[in-house]
Amino acid sequence: AKQLGKNNYQLYSVSKDIISYKNFSLEKDMRTAIEKEEFEVYFQPQVETSTGIIQGAEALIRWNHAEWGLVSPGEFIPLAEENHLIHQIGDWVIEHVCKQLRKWKDKGYTLRPIAINVSPIRFIKKGLVEFVSSMLNKYDIPAKYVELEITEGSMLKNEPVVLNTLKELRDLGISIAIDDFGTGHSSLTYIQQFSADTIKIDKSFIQDITAENSSGAAITSSVLHLARGMEMKVVAEGVEEYEQLEFLNQHECDEVQGYLFSKPVPLESFEQMLETGY
Ligand code: C2E
Ligand code: CA
Ligand code: CA
Ligand code: CA
Repeated sequence: AKQLGKNNYQLYSVSKDIISYKNFSLEKDMRTAIEKEEFEVYFQPQVETSTGIIQGAEALIRWNHAEWGLVSPGEFIPLAEENHLIHQIGDWVIEHVCKQLRKWKDKGYTLRPIAINVSPIRFIKKGLVEFVSSMLNKYDIPAKYVELEITEGSMLKNEPVVLNTLKELRDLGISIAIDDFGTGHSSLTYIQQFSADTIKIDKSFIQDITAENSSGAAITSSVLHLARGMEMKVVAEGVEEYEQLEFLNQHECDEVQGYLFSKPVPLESFEQMLETGY
């Protein structure tokens, strides 16, 4: 930073102070955010590639903070993983989604599977299976409407607890999606041993599909080819452009998720989409 000159250095250090102040403030307020009902769940539709029909959605948490406004999970989930509040927050999301599925059922909607992100830390801690199972019972929701998204990283920790948890969840009837596929170091064969149902190709590859001299298209088509052979479903993340959609449709990708169809939206907007199917 020194060779940038004095002024640049000051600018850098001021913005760094703001970030650490914000992190400090978020961390402090996180403890009471659940009671104060400041968390909200947005939904981003996952649509059938060839038709655009909604097949399900991913639940994405948002924090309506009194001072900072809408805070994105990219900012507070890492903090929650450090201070272990991720367990409470993660469980809140699971309960919230099950409760919502029950409301939709009561309203007469055709239910669609909702995918919930599970932090690797939560995944490894005991009691996840029991908690999910108790929520399904409490809200009387068939397990097939809940999908859990875990990253490759949490599966690579080849611990018996990971294998057992995955097996028990699948025995309940819950499906498992591998999130951000391609960013870790696993292979599809490895993932098949864990019997995941769905692969989510990371958005970095999708956004590279149309870029010149990039490997995005080659990687995407080979993941699709292999996944088909293994009878796993593939969802492409971060689809923003029509050309990407066209490529994914030609290569028979099952579902797409991205801004091209919809951003993650609050409940009311998502319900409007469910009513029309698009
Ligand atoms: P993720 O699981 O990979 O979620 C996808 C992220 O990509 C979301 O960001 C979504 O808004 C964004 N996205 C969707 N379509 C597009 C697109 O077309 N282009 C681009 N550039 N981005 C797109 P979001 O909602 O900010 O979430 C960020 C991350 O925070 C998530 O990444 C996930 O790792 C974590 N997260 C979100 N909700 C939860 C939660 O309830 N629990 C846990 N443990 N983590 C969560
Ligand atoms: Ca889905
Ligand atoms: Ca995800
Ligand atoms: Ca992802």
